Amino acid sequence: MSPTNDPVALLDLAPQNASVAAELRAAFDRVLQSGAFILGSEVETFEAEVARYIGVKHAFGISSGTDAILLALMALDVGPGDEVIMPPFTFFATGGCVARLGAKPVFVDIEPRTFNIDVSRIEEKISARTKAIMPVHLYGQTCDLEALRELGARRGVPIIEDAAQSLGARSKQFAAGSAGAFGCYSFFPSKNLGALGDGGLLSTNDDALAKKAKLLRAHGAEPKYYHALIGGNFRLDALQAAFLRVKLPHLDSWTAARRGNAALYDQLFAEASLPLELLRTPQRVYEGHVYNQYIIRSSRRDELAKHLRAQGIGCEVYYPVPLHLQQCFAYLGEKAGAYPQAESACQQVLALPIYAELGHERLRHVAQTVVELLRR
Ligand SMILES: *Cc1c(COP(=O)(O)O)cnc(C)c1O
Repeated sequence: MSPTNDPVALLDLAPQNASVAAELRAAFDRVLQSGAFILGSEVETFEAEVARYIGVKHAFGISSGTDAILLALMALDVGPGDEVIMPPFTFFATGGCVARLGAKPVFVDIEPRTFNIDVSRIEEKISARTKAIMPVHLYGQTCDLEALRELGARRGVPIIEDAAQSLGARSKQFAAGSAGAFGCYSFFPSKNLGALGDGGLLSTNDDALAKKAKLLRAHGAEPKYYHALIGGNFRLDALQAAFLRVKLPHLDSWTAARRGNAALYDQLFAEASLPLELLRTPQRVYEGHVYNQYIIRSSRRDELAKHLRAQGIGCEVYYPVPLHLQQCFAYLGEKAGAYPQAESACQQVLALPIYAELGHERLRHVAQTVVELLRR
């Protein structure tokens, strides 16, 4: 084991990839031999395996999580004049995809303890133009999917779940990405199931939407070279599917390690008994939290981040600017102060190392360094 003052990366992919390196090489050889590099049987087999894992009827391998969101919106015919409700505290893609289609992102503030959209405040933002509601299951925990599903059904508004950070997560009743019209997932390397490059997934339980999304994934062609719909190239590579098939069977044990790490942080930070404004640990509402990130809140966040980095400890601010205050969305005319919980989260959140192979010795060193600074 390394001495405790060695640098600690926010995320180190090397040990996980090393643990399956032989299988990854075999997967590469298999695809090389097959000569089929885009979609094909490797992707179809992965789609069946991951659909079973999530518990959905259909899953489609997509070029990225961003493209999965774009494709879901396209399959629901979201376009100019339409509105899509979402939280302002998320990765850019959630809002970017809606704007790219000429539709308007409409924001609903987050709950301060879970960082997820405040479902109780969505209904007041539903208008005749609302084409979809897009919650984001941030950091590995779903929003209140039970309440959201009831609302969507009652108001007749489809739900597109941005589950990019939450493959394998569960609310009380639902697997992340399985409760609405579509679930969108990402295999960006820093996600809990990471490809060796870009990749994503679109899931649905609706046969008609599945058929349409599958067509749109490859330029809306059926048969080849005859286009009834305008789609795009949103296809997953066979190589990435083969690599993901190697990793998927390990996902639950990697998640268990992340949960163990989170529990140890929770315990060490509770023992430090610092005032809540200095150190707030993340709230686990659902057992099914998969901890893509472990996020603390602190009124001294910037000072803490600087201190950790100076000590060689990786940390990151996800996210420093809410969507409604991004320069590219200035045309929406939103003002600072409009979504106070999202804005406050941007000032206070900090991600600490949580990856499965972190190990308790390094974790204790991170926790100790955090507590030391905040005690000063
Ligand atoms: C990662 C992520 C995306 C985009 O996924 P990519 O595969 O990087 O395109 C979208 N939304 C959220 C919340 C994400 O974390």
